[in-house]
Amino acid sequence: MNVKDTGRINVTRSSMPELKEFIEELKPVWNSRWLSNRGAASKKFESMLESYLEVEHVYCFANGHVALEIAINSLFLKGEVITTPYTHVSTTHAIVRNGLTPVFVDVEEENYTINSELIEKAITDKTVAIVATHVYGFPCNVENIERIAQKYNLYVIYDAAHAFGVKYKGVGIGNFGDLAMFSTHATKVFHTIEGGIVTYKDKDNERLSPMRKIVNFGFTNEECIDFIGTNARMNEFEAVMGIVNLEHIDTEIAKRKIAVERYKERLDGIKGIRILKPAKNVEWNGAYFPVIFDGYRWDRNQVQAELAKHNIYARKYFYPLVNRAACYIDLYGKVEVPVAAHAADCILTLPMYADLTVDDVDRICDIILK
Ligand SMILES: *Cc1c(COP(=O)(O)O)cnc(C)c1O
Repeated sequence: MNVKDTGRINVTRSSMPELKEFIEELKPVWNSRWLSNRGAASKKFESMLESYLEVEHVYCFANGHVALEIAINSLFLKGEVITTPYTHVSTTHAIVRNGLTPVFVDVEEENYTINSELIEKAITDKTVAIVATHVYGFPCNVENIERIAQKYNLYVIYDAAHAFGVKYKGVGIGNFGDLAMFSTHATKVFHTIEGGIVTYKDKDNERLSPMRKIVNFGFTNEECIDFIGTNARMNEFEAVMGIVNLEHIDTEIAKRKIAVERYKERLDGIKGIRILKPAKNVEWNGAYFPVIFDGYRWDRNQVQAELAKHNIYARKYFYPLVNRAACYIDLYGKVEVPVAAHAADCILTLPMYADLTVDDVDRICDIILK
């Protein structure tokens, strides 16, 4: 087969609105000279997000990582947190930087989210929370996790960085858990250049309100500094980018789905290749296109190298496992996670973004299958 070789294809590519749309939306911010500290654009953006995500409350942050770190911080916990090492290192960093101890359990074979049956076995009298990632936008087993959390009185915080716009049984994914964090970084399905948001219920809930102060140095009002805060504010330009991008998000997700379908047509059922798919009751966002190479004539690294020769850059999300990262190795005892370890060795996330064309997908698949 002849492989057409044209421009560079990265694993992801930011969705962009028309520049004139951005400028139009920016004008009032520009004229007001209110550039940060939760001005009109941030407030408008938050309320648009509340309706789009169908959640009670949204709060914006400078990026997804600090959003997660502050969300956890706002609960003032001490002890152990059950999580998995099959995630962005950000998830674990957010736990550890809050002085908490991560307890790593394995993931489900099917979609690499936390294995809820193993959570219960890992609970000790020190366990205070579960921090779980909706990996690739595939929801965790939210029902089992909810049941366990209620039984043992644990907080549940979701790293929903990949899951913007995802629904489980028709319910916006931000409604599950006590708090959920969505990253709105430039590389994600929906972005604000840099940014992150936390969704939560009950704005006046005392447990959660510190989050909205910690983000701004802990100020409760001009003269009261009640928390040891930090600065993690989203700025108004980012909120404007969010407002404009949100107008197009459904179209962008629909475009991703065309690429997803083409990948499936080309790769599904090929011996040694396994495609990860959302469950039937999930409205997915096509955040990534993860593929397992196990028993294929090339291993994962060979596929990645072969694509790179043709200027196509697939990525190993997630490799290494977080517990194998240099900063964590041997820190938390022996971690037995065979499913996650196998995934980390065999996974390749193929390029996936709204502007990826069917021809691009064909070019990628031609190389893999040639
Ligand atoms: C991207 C990502 C983060 C961090 O988000 P930033 O906005 O880049 O800080 C955290 N968790 C997961 C799973 C991610 O993919």
